[in-house]
Amino acid sequence: MSRVEAKDIDWENLGFNYMDLPYRFTAHWKNGEWQDAGIVEDSTLHISEASPVLHYGQAVFEGMKAYRTPDDSVQLFRPDQNAKRMQSSCERLLMPVFPEEQFVDAVKQVVKANIDFVPPYGSGATLYLRPLMIGTGEMIGVHAADEYIFTIFAMPVGSYFKGGLSPVNFITSDYDRAAHRGTGQSKVGGNYAASLLPGDRARKQGFADCVYLDPIEHRKIEEVGAANFFGITKDGIFRTPKSPSILPSITKYSLLWLAENRLGLKAEEADVYIDRLDDYSEAGACGTAAVISPIGGLQHNGKLHIFYSETKVGPITGELFNTLTGIQFGTVEAPEGWVERIL
Ligand SMILES: *Cc1c(COP(=O)(O)O)cnc(C)c1O
Repeated sequence: MSRVEAKDIDWENLGFNYMDLPYRFTAHWKNGEWQDAGIVEDSTLHISEASPVLHYGQAVFEGMKAYRTPDDSVQLFRPDQNAKRMQSSCERLLMPVFPEEQFVDAVKQVVKANIDFVPPYGSGATLYLRPLMIGTGEMIGVHAADEYIFTIFAMPVGSYFKGGLSPVNFITSDYDRAAHRGTGQSKVGGNYAASLLPGDRARKQGFADCVYLDPIEHRKIEEVGAANFFGITKDGIFRTPKSPSILPSITKYSLLWLAENRLGLKAEEADVYIDRLDDYSEAGACGTAAVISPIGGLQHNGKLHIFYSETKVGPITGELFNTLTGIQFGTVEAPEGWVERIL
C-alpha cells in the first residue's frame, strides 16, 4: 500500500478505511521491560511465525479519536479511560501493561507527527487512533508470550452519518458474543473473530448488525454488534444493560453521565429484557466509531419492534448525540478532565 498525502484526501467523503500514514508509535517488550519506544515510519510489523498472537490470539486493542476544534486546535476525548481499559484487557490475557501516562503521551506523539491528517473542523471527520498490543517471540506452547509489540497507528475517518443521524435496524442473534466469566469485558481480538459469522448473517438478512442477548438465558440485551446498547424508557429513564460480558464502552459511560447531569434524566445500568421492548420510546447503539447509531427497529423471533421511528431520530437520542459530539469537537463545555488539548 502506498503512502497517502494529506493534500490528496477528500475530507468530506472518508469512510472507515486503513490509510498508511507517515508515522506510528511502537515499543517492544523484551527481557521484562519496554524498549525502543518512539515514533517510526515503518508500517509493517516483523514477527516470528511462532508468535502466540498468530496461534492463540494474544492480542488486545483500543479505538479512540483526535478532534479538530473550530479554533483549529486538536483534542483527545478521555484518553486516560482508553489507557486504563487497555491495561485491564492486558491483565486478562496475561500481557504486560503499558503505563497510563506513557500511553497518553504516545497517543499525543502520533497525533502530532501526523497533524496534517487531522481532518478540518466541520467535515465531521476525525483522526482515528488504533492502539494495539500483540504477543510475539518464539513460544509455540500454550503460554503467554515473552515478547510483545505495542503500537499506535492512525487514520482519518469520516463521520458515520453524512447529512445527520439516521436510524438503522438490527436483529437478535442465536449466537453468543462472550460468556459471563469469559473475555467479554476485555477488548481482545478473539471476541471479534467470534462475532464475524453472526454479524455476516445479520447483514445478509438486511440488518445493520446483530444484537447479542445474555449468554445464560437469552432474555436480556447485551451488545449491539461491537457497540453498547441504551434505551430511553417511556417515563424518561436512560437505561443501559449491566452484565459481566459487556465491553465497558467509554461512550456509554459518558452518555450515562450526560443523560443525568446535562439532560436531567434518571440514568441507570439495569437489565433490558427482550420481551419488554414496549417500555422504551427510543434506543441506540453507542461507541467511539459511530458515537450513536439510533436503532429504528429490532427484529426478534420474526417480529420487528419499532422504537421511535425507522426514519426519524428520537429527540433524546438527538440531544445526547449533539451534547457528546459538541464536547468532543470543543463547542460544548466539557466536564472536568474529559478533553485533553494537544495543540
Ligand atoms: C470498543 C467496543 C465498544 C465501544 O466502546 P467505546 O469505548 O465507546 O468506543 C462497545 N462494544 C464492544 C464489543 C467494543 O469492542
